[in-house]
Amino acid sequence: TQPIHIVGGGMAGSEAAWQIAEAGLPVVIHEMRPVRGTEAHLTDGLAELVCSNSFRSDDAETNAVGLLHEEMRRCNSIIMAMGDKHQVPAGGALAVDRVAFSEAVTETLKSHPNVTIERGEVAGLPPEEWDSVIIATGPLTSPSLSQAILDLTGEDSLAFFDAIAPIVHHESIDMDVAWMQSRYDKGETEADKAAYINCPMDKAQYEAFIDALMAAPKTEFKDWEKDTPYFEACLPIEVMAERGRETLRHGPMKPRGLTNKHNPDVKPWAVVQLRQDNALGTLFNMVGFQTKLKYGAQSEIFRMIPGLENAEFARLGGIHRNTFINSPRLLDKQLRLKANPAWRFAGQVTGVEGYVESAAMGLMAGRLAAAERKGEILSAPPPTTAFGALIEHVTGGHLSGKATFQPMNVNFGLFPDIDTPLKTEDGKRLRGKDKSVARKRAMSARALGDLQVWLGTDRLAAE
Ligand code: FAD
Repeated sequence: TQPIHIVGGGMAGSEAAWQIAEAGLPVVIHEMRPVRGTEAHLTDGLAELVCSNSFRSDDAETNAVGLLHEEMRRCNSIIMAMGDKHQVPAGGALAVDRVAFSEAVTETLKSHPNVTIERGEVAGLPPEEWDSVIIATGPLTSPSLSQAILDLTGEDSLAFFDAIAPIVHHESIDMDVAWMQSRYDKGETEADKAAYINCPMDKAQYEAFIDALMAAPKTEFKDWEKDTPYFEACLPIEVMAERGRETLRHGPMKPRGLTNKHNPDVKPWAVVQLRQDNALGTLFNMVGFQTKLKYGAQSEIFRMIPGLENAEFARLGGIHRNTFINSPRLLDKQLRLKANPAWRFAGQVTGVEGYVESAAMGLMAGRLAAAERKGEILSAPPPTTAFGALIEHVTGGHLSGKATFQPMNVNFGLFPDIDTPLKTEDGKRLRGKDKSVARKRAMSARALGDLQVWLGTDRLAAE
């Protein structure tokens, strides 16, 4: 049997290789380090963690990344097995000894009879004779490969920076203060005319908001991130505020063409708009609010916005060097490039964010490639699972249009809604936080149930 080739031995590539090897198939990992380095990696180990040593919450019942941990464990994940083995104390989080973790992943893969590790850059598109390839080269994909992908897919299909505006859970927005309306009621249908959520500010609120923005602590760019080409086209809000106190009021916070339904006689001084972010309508992004403010400051300052006082953020804003493709346009549900189905993509380069999410996408790409090699038909897990919710995000569940596809961590806003119990077992009515926890528990239980069913079909396919 011809081997499956994996480009990049990071979080996704290592997991994909393990899944393929464990399915009994030969696999070659092409890892460029130490022949060629990246700006962030320091070692030649596989699955090196480039920054924090945390896999985040390990709570599978009420936290979406904890649920993803559990789903991966049930799928024989090497990243989770080695993470569990080399964990260090971190409260409810799963944190790992980064050196021992990376060494364990490297050694385990190296000693697997089906795995070959080749050191060297794939400095362009993979050779044609490789009939099954997984590209898992991560946020710091080498320039020669990114250039080749850019030439293949076109300018607007590959990004070199993310510019992430905060994303809010719809249910946490106070619609007694905010209202739905498109600017100048533009749109063909009634739904289009009321596509945005608008949060109004009076003059005093706006001035206080600008003061808070200017005073807030910011995250610095790393040296190699400076001179970012996006900069003029996609300015962080705090930079706009520094250019002049009125700049935001004439930019993303302009009030023109909007009438406050709750108070039609008073013209808002400024308006923050939120746009639907996923097909389910559970998530809304703050339009034009990309930012490098520190996370703590973001939650505090954005909750000053009327209507967002109790906002729960599915993700906060950020701007980083990050190579990722426009997956909703380029990939099918099997994570294959539509233009060349011999190539799959996995990891952060597909538009997920985070160590665990990247490894999860590697796990899926590995299983899908292995099933295909065996002549079997395996579909991805359903969107009710954490795996499926991520795949849905990168392959089409995203609404905001092609140009604005941005990476995402796993979160419950990506899951289809669920009927949640309204009362506790002893008959008390659930409210507020308790209700939200009950909903998360119900979603997690559904996810693990559906994953078990999917694993059954996977095993059947494997036999
Ligand atoms: P990687 O783990 O980066 O693996 C890609 C591999 O491909 C690398 O080993 C690279 O050397 C190799 N490669 C690249 N190009 C080629 C080529 N042409 N040929 C052969 N090999 C190639 N996530 C978190 O959860 N927590 C964090 O704290 C965190 N911090 C981050 C800090 C920085 C500076 C960056 C850039 C990202 C960070 N991330 C973090 C995001 C992300 O989760 C990690 O980058 C994660 O490692 C992505 O996994 P991956 O497998 O997609 O890519």
